[in-house]
This record gives sequence, structure tokens and C-alpha cells, in this order.
Amino acid sequence: MTKTPKRFETHAIRQQLDRTPYGEHSTPLFLTSSFVFDDAEHMRASFAEENDQNIYSRFSNPNTTELVDKVVAMEGAEAGYAFASGMAAVFSTFAALLDSGDHIVSCQSVFGSTHSLFTKFLPKWNIETSYFKVNQLDIVESLIQPNTKVIYAESPTNPAVDILDLEALGNIAKKHNLILIIDNCFASPYLQNPIKFGADLVIHSATKLMDGQGRVLGGITVGNAELMHQIYLFSRNTGPALSPFNAWILSKSLETLGVRVDRHCKNALKVAKFLEKHPKVNVVKYPFLKSHPQYAVAKKQMRKGGNVVSFEIVGGIEAGRAFLNSIKLCSLSANLGDSRTIVTHPSSTTHSKLSENDRLEASITNGLIRVSVGLEHHKDIINDLNQALG
Ligand SMILES: *Cc1c(COP(=O)(O)O)cnc(C)c1O
Repeated sequence: MTKTPKRFETHAIRQQLDRTPYGEHSTPLFLTSSFVFDDAEHMRASFAEENDQNIYSRFSNPNTTELVDKVVAMEGAEAGYAFASGMAAVFSTFAALLDSGDHIVSCQSVFGSTHSLFTKFLPKWNIETSYFKVNQLDIVESLIQPNTKVIYAESPTNPAVDILDLEALGNIAKKHNLILIIDNCFASPYLQNPIKFGADLVIHSATKLMDGQGRVLGGITVGNAELMHQIYLFSRNTGPALSPFNAWILSKSLETLGVRVDRHCKNALKVAKFLEKHPKVNVVKYPFLKSHPQYAVAKKQMRKGGNVVSFEIVGGIEAGRAFLNSIKLCSLSANLGDSRTIVTHPSSTTHSKLSENDRLEASITNGLIRVSVGLEHHKDIINDLNQALG
């Protein structure tokens, strides 16, 4: 491994595998399922984890190692493991750390599939979850039980772009000796580093801002070395590993994360300010708008506001559907963090199966629109939103 430099942008580019004898400048792709040993003793020592030798690409591969080392450096973590998707990272992290009978305290506003994991699948192994709302950090301690092991949250949240105070959660986790896990996907490692505020583990869907061009799926968990070793042992035996090809793409994408996210944030702030003035828009939520209810917390824990803006369109469900039907340049798609701007209307699409009451519990009003602001020229994005608002 090359010497570890200090600053984010430098890690993104210089945290790179050692060169092979061919002297390549950029990291090559290691498409190999397994690796060879010098002799019986080398093989024994490798299986006994007495060296860093790669054994089999389900365990580790040079391309996934480069990606993991980069994100570990970016997040200020000790170790990590890369997964085939963000959900593989979420599931494997819980499956590795929790035992039957354990309990989770989670924010209610979490990614849809994470919510399904808590409500539909973990209960099969007798693991239950209690929930607090984004504005209810004061009740978190009252939800902790003798069998609680983990506190889980995302910030900013999807799709309402609420902000949770990571330092406050870190203090609660420390006081009660619980593992704090933060899904940092909406911020990316460039904008926010939860470990600084007391998180033990940080999860990313690398599919979003890390890839940044909507091409590959990936996930990663980084953090405390002891916890990561448990997650590694679980994962090397159960097989959720990221492919070397996707790791190579993602490590290359991270070289430009800082410059891309800077532009995403600049465009998003312009979009948010435009929406604030529009007569067909009621409420605009963007972490770095002064009107955001947790503006001060966002300023404390984030470098910039991120690329997702949510707003409330006047006229509810029908107005939301009409807005989507009038969009010309932006995409109607389920992804986010892409170079292409994406708009969604959660109450008529992703969350339409929930009752209105359940939607409101998760801060999803009938007129809520989520915009994942891309890298097109901001004037073209704003023109499209403007004509679609009518
Ligand atoms: C997309 C997403 C996930 C899941 O990631 P996949 O790569 O789609 O499996 C988890 N958490 C958040 C916040 C996400 O946006």
C-alpha cells in the first residue's frame, strides 16, 4: 500500500494498490476468482489469517481492497468490507452482529428495504425493532431495553431530507454501550463522517453518489476493526461480496467524488432557492436552506447540503402526478445521486401502498416531491421544473 496522505481529495486519488511489475499508472482490473500460494506453509498461514494474502475473491480481491481502503481513509474508519449492493451491506451488518432475541432502536424514516428488513425479515430470527421519529431524539433513551444492541439511523433521511443530530445519537449510544450504525448514503463520505460524531459503523449504498453515474450496484460498511472482523467472517462465509469489476468502477468513481458532489450541491442549492420562491410550492426542504428545521445541526455535521431537495407541491396527489407527467428533461426513476436529475413523487409511487396515516408518520405528505439534483446545467434543470410546475 502506498503511503497514506492526509486530505480527502488526495485519498480519493492516491489511496491506490501497489503497482504490478508492468508499471501501470492506473489500477488494473483483477478478474480472478482465486489466488495462488508459494507452498503448504504459505497456504496454511493465509487461511489462518496470519498475513494479508488474497485467498479467494469471495473473501477479498485487490480491487475490492483498494475500494475499501479508500472509503476507510475517507470516513476515518479502521476497517471495512465491500458488498454487492447497499442492502447486502445493511443485511450482512445486522446478520453478523445480532443474535436471536436482540433488539434494535431505529429512526422510523429509513430506506424502504431497510424498513422491510426490520418489519418482515429480522422478526423471523426473533429480532425486534422500536422506532423514534426524526424529531423525537428525546425518546430514544426510553426505547432502550436490556436486550438492545444497536441504534440505527440515516441522515439526511429519504425522501423528506430531515436531519438527525449524529452527535446526540453518538452520546446516547456511548452512554448505554450500544453500537451506533449510520447509513451515510445521502451525504457520501465527502459531506459527512459519522465516526467523528460517535458512530461505530457507517454504511453506504455505493450505487448512489459514490458511483454517481447510475451504472453499478455496490455497498460498503466501514468502522470499528473488531466489529468489522465479525462482519468480514460472516460475509466471507455467506457470499454477499462485491464483484472485482464493480469495485474497480467504484474506486475509479471515487477519484472524482469531491468535484462531482461540490457541483451537485451547488446545483441543488440553486434549485432549492428557485423552488422557495415559486407560488405552486409550499415547503422546500434542503439542509443548507436557513428555513430547514435542523439547519444548525446540518451546518454542524455536514460540509455542504447534499444533492437531494424535497418540496411540497400545492394541490396534493393529483398535482404531484401532473407534475411528473409534465417533466421533459429530468428523469422519472427510482435511483438517486446520478449525474442525471431524477424526480419522484413518493405518495403515488414508492409509498402508495401505505395508508395516508402511515405515510404521514414517515413525513411523506401527498404533495411531497423528491428531486435528486444532477450535474446538468442548473438553468436547464430549473427551466424543466418551472415548466412542469405550470
Ligand atoms: C439506495 C439506498 C440503500 C440501498 O442500496 P442498494 O445499493 O440499492 O441496495 C440503502 N440506504 C439508502 C439511504 C439508500 O438510498
